[in-house]
Amino acid sequence: VQSRLPQVGTTIFTVMSALAQETGAVNLGQGFPDFDCDPALPAQVAAAMQEGLNQYPPMAGVAPLRERVAAKIEALYGHRYDAGTEITITAGATQAILTAVLCCVHPGDEVIVLEPCYDSYAPNIELAGGTVVRVPLQPGSFRPDFTRIAAALSPKTRLMIVNSPHNPSATVWTRAEMQQLAELLAPTQTLLISDEVYEHMVFDGQPHISAASIPALAARTFVVSSFGKTYHVTGWKVGYVAAPAVLSAEFRKVHQFNVFTVNTPVQHALARYMADPAPYRELPAFYQRKRDLFREGLAQTRLKPLHTQGSYFQLVDYSAVSSLPEGEFCLWLTREMGVAAIPLSAFYAGGFEQGLARLCFAKRDDTLQEALRRLQRL
Ligand code: PMP
Ligand code: GLN
Repeated sequence: VQSRLPQVGTTIFTVMSALAQETGAVNLGQGFPDFDCDPALPAQVAAAMQEGLNQYPPMAGVAPLRERVAAKIEALYGHRYDAGTEITITAGATQAILTAVLCCVHPGDEVIVLEPCYDSYAPNIELAGGTVVRVPLQPGSFRPDFTRIAAALSPKTRLMIVNSPHNPSATVWTRAEMQQLAELLAPTQTLLISDEVYEHMVFDGQPHISAASIPALAARTFVVSSFGKTYHVTGWKVGYVAAPAVLSAEFRKVHQFNVFTVNTPVQHALARYMADPAPYRELPAFYQRKRDLFREGLAQTRLKPLHTQGSYFQLVDYSAVSSLPEGEFCLWLTREMGVAAIPLSAFYAGGFEQGLARLCFAKRDDTLQEALRRLQRL
């Protein structure tokens, strides 16, 4: 078969998790919690199943969950989406992003991504026949470089994808930066995907600035989030997209012939669980404590942690330990030191080398402590 994605292999997350399992390394590579979710959540799934909520749900998702999502976005970001026409429940953020790309990108269109970026964006654009236009984030700070973004915009730019809090750099955009993006896009026809899967993981009192909270952006944006991150259930693969009715209508045309719809009892369980905002309101403090514990431990190693403003990732500079390229360093760290990590170069098309590795701190305290003990031997 002639490959549609000839450059693509197995994702780095799958590769490193498999290696961690094979070698018994502490897995700080792939981003997922090693602790379980609130038991109230699976109890709600079981209840929904026993109530007979087991057949196809409406194509866009069950109404109570769409209502909850709309209410949450309004409460946190001040923008009211219509639950009937503007919220769609998806099979995780991954499907939401692919579907958003497929519904608006035509062959030959340009799509701007900011590098380093999540590994699914570029293949999604290529599957749609689009051209990936890569604009680097500012080296070191990983903040958006608006001069370079402005230079990359062209009449062919159909779409741009942004992600804050950012995987892998843990940078959180400010309101001023989101507003600057809105001003830059104002004279264009460019649509936006705002990947906000880490929206509830922001630290030190900094707010998450959703594209939904800036009217000029909300009008052109697919806002994407994931229940997997927020409720510690990455394996459930349920997320959502919020977008103006005209965009949501196009999104649903593709969605209905892609997955059609998403697991019914899980949607009802999430809707009931979301009645209480405490779990997501408490998430920043929950992860900030883990971040601080992890960073205090890293201070006792020869790894140098960069900033962590949001997400559950920590970049570390390993130049005091090794001059290996990032991919080889992460393999060595996994095999020889027993800690799996992700090379930052995996988030760049050209494999740009900066001597940085990504570690995930969404782990039990004892897991983090065991990893730190091993890293202190470096
Ligand atoms: N975007 C980013 C930035 C992510 O880190 C992830 C999770 N790895 C996703 C999208 C995909 O989320 P989901 O698991 O809900 O598909
Ligand atoms: N988003 C997770 C990460 O960045 C992994 C998701 C995946 O394995 N595709 O580590």
